Amino acid sequence: MAMFHKILIANRGEIAVRIIRACKELGIRSVAVYSEADRDSMHTRLADESVCIGPAPSAQSYLNIAALMAAAELTDAEAIHPGFGFLAENAEFADIVLESGLVWIGPTPASMRTMGDKVTAKKEMEIAGVPLVPGSEGAVETIEEAKAVVKTSGFPIIIKASAGGGGRGMKIVHSEASLSNAFSMCKTEAGAAFGDDTVFIEKFLEEPRHIEVQVLGDTHGNIVHLFERECSMQRNNQKVLEEAPSPYLDPETREKICAAGLAAAKAVNYVGAGTIEFLMNSDKSFYFMEMNTRIQVEHPVTEWITGVDLIEWQIRVAAGDKLDFCQDNIKIKGHAIECRINAEHPFKFTPSPGTVELYHAPGGRSVRVDSQLYTGYKIPPHYDSMIGKVITHARDRQKCIRRMQRAMDELVILGVTTNQELHQRLLANPGFQSADFNIHFLEKWLHQMSL
Ligand code: ADP
Repeated sequence: MAMFHKILIANRGEIAVRIIRACKELGIRSVAVYSEADRDSMHTRLADESVCIGPAPSAQSYLNIAALMAAAELTDAEAIHPGFGFLAENAEFADIVLESGLVWIGPTPASMRTMGDKVTAKKEMEIAGVPLVPGSEGAVETIEEAKAVVKTSGFPIIIKASAGGGGRGMKIVHSEASLSNAFSMCKTEAGAAFGDDTVFIEKFLEEPRHIEVQVLGDTHGNIVHLFERECSMQRNNQKVLEEAPSPYLDPETREKICAAGLAAAKAVNYVGAGTIEFLMNSDKSFYFMEMNTRIQVEHPVTEWITGVDLIEWQIRVAAGDKLDFCQDNIKIKGHAIECRINAEHPFKFTPSPGTVELYHAPGGRSVRVDSQLYTGYKIPPHYDSMIGKVITHARDRQKCIRRMQRAMDELVILGVTTNQELHQRLLANPGFQSADFNIHFLEKWLHQMSL
């Protein structure tokens, strides 16, 4: 099948830059869209063509479907890559793209819908034999039902909105006394925030690790997994540092969790790149949490250990190409770590937009930098604070940490405050170095240090 001539990238920042780079390497023309606040941003400059789609607020630009479709029509783009965030998991947008005769670089709207609704997703996963966090069977309608669920699961529990996302619409309950109140509050809030008050209950796992499996499928029925990533370094349910492979898994557990991820993807006939997120207990039991039906921020660590270019394959699969490798061809080579660089205070996490007076990216052997930064760039205050990612690779984890430490020491960003020092301290932390952590590690450590 013929490759696209031109792709529109419905995103900004480092992921737009990443996709433009992939387009260039494939010989495809790229169209950047930008808000008035992003006129001088890197993605606007790097693309072959750029179209302004509205004022700074995302609702009027990067989330403005009419403006995006007009830009695609104006530039005669054949396909749209949504990146992550913004409209990447919006099935209605995917529908509109397809109805307009364009190609959606992503999974089918049907699999996006199934996985986007947590109750539906869990039902599908149960049928596929993927382990679920113990809890309610589907939606919980009344407080009596909630009490009945807790009788078997015990406390603590987590009440979740079926339509929730981005860490919103969840409530942890530790005792019977607060159950009724939390249940009705969660239901009311879910209705107000997501227009759907369906909630369900899960056992709250106290000290799990976050381990996720990367999958990739084509339109010819081939689906493979590309092993796992460990993303337990989090703050406020936001990932800070990711690595692949997970330092916690033995070969047997790796095989099991990757097989579960693959089964999940196969259950929805998944096409494109996707991620199945699991929580893993200290006894190495693991449970399906959710599937992200898009490319993820941390995809480079997987690219590095497997040698598979995920963005290139997203595009090729959307163009109808067959995967030219099979499961047995994919092997883990070495270790990779990614540090997310945010324009924010390293310990207080207050955003720090402004002008970058000097930018110097680290280099040298096995260091990759995906970023929209340049000296003189004015970071707008309107969007996510992530301004780039530094990724390192080495033969083993210890060497990879050392390489990341020297990369972090080389990185210079002047003019705005960044979380560089947080990474420097974290990389030197014995708990991190010995891989003895869970999803609460970072917050507990910050608390102990009174940082
Ligand atoms: P969202 O779609 O909002 O990201 P998730 O279901 O992925 O919601 O959960 C977000 C985060 O909440 C997880 O990364 C984990 O830290 C925590 N979490 C979710 N479910 C549980 C659970 N059953 N036990 C413990 N922590 C949980």
